[in-house]
Amino acid sequence: VLVIEDDTAIRRFLRTSLDPTEFSVSEAEFGKAGVRAAAEERPDVVLLDLGLPDIDGIEVVKALRAWSQVPVIVLSARGQEQDKVAALDAGADDYLTKPFSLAELLARIRVARRHARPLSGEPVVETPAFQVDLAERRVTRHGAEVHLTPNEYGLLACLARYAGKVVTQRQLLAEVWGEAYVSETHYLRIYLGQLRHKLEDDPAQPQVLLTEPGVGYRLQTE
Ligand code: CA
Repeated sequence: VLVIEDDTAIRRFLRTSLDPTEFSVSEAEFGKAGVRAAAEERPDVVLLDLGLPDIDGIEVVKALRAWSQVPVIVLSARGQEQDKVAALDAGADDYLTKPFSLAELLARIRVARRHARPLSGEPVVETPAFQVDLAERRVTRHGAEVHLTPNEYGLLACLARYAGKVVTQRQLLAEVWGEAYVSETHYLRIYLGQLRHKLEDDPAQPQVLLTEPGVGYRLQTE
């Protein structure tokens, strides 16, 4: 795990909290040094602060994404929606607002590692409530096929391809409806509602098709 963070206390907290039998932690205090460290050490996961002394964390994400698919989890005090959206659109995989719980951070690191490799060869995405077969374009729930409209399927398939990760509203709208529709966020509320009714055991308490308020949606695989 590479931690790119200028706050000494948070670096110390992460170093002492991440079980050394499971993680080896390296640290960078500056953004540029962090990008170099990622190239040299090839970490499995990057934990990235946005407010760094030299370059902004968003620039770090862009620099990493030019050559690397390493999962990047942003840890930031900036809780504004636009900051989250900018980080995710730049290529970050996940976002936690400080203060965050260690249990949640560990869960998100596990998800990031699970999805670290490309999903090719994994055409079937399993969730506790249903299965999506991306190759066959089939969705089954409790063994029975579920009929979805083309837009419902497009939205679900997009979330399934990025299972475990937050997909921004803009990304979903662009992929399913096209670039001209990236402001039509009400489409997402309507279609996610329909998908939850067809696929979730309790549509009012979704366990799989989760909302990240103001940011986007996430398909949870466990
Ligand atoms: Ca900082």
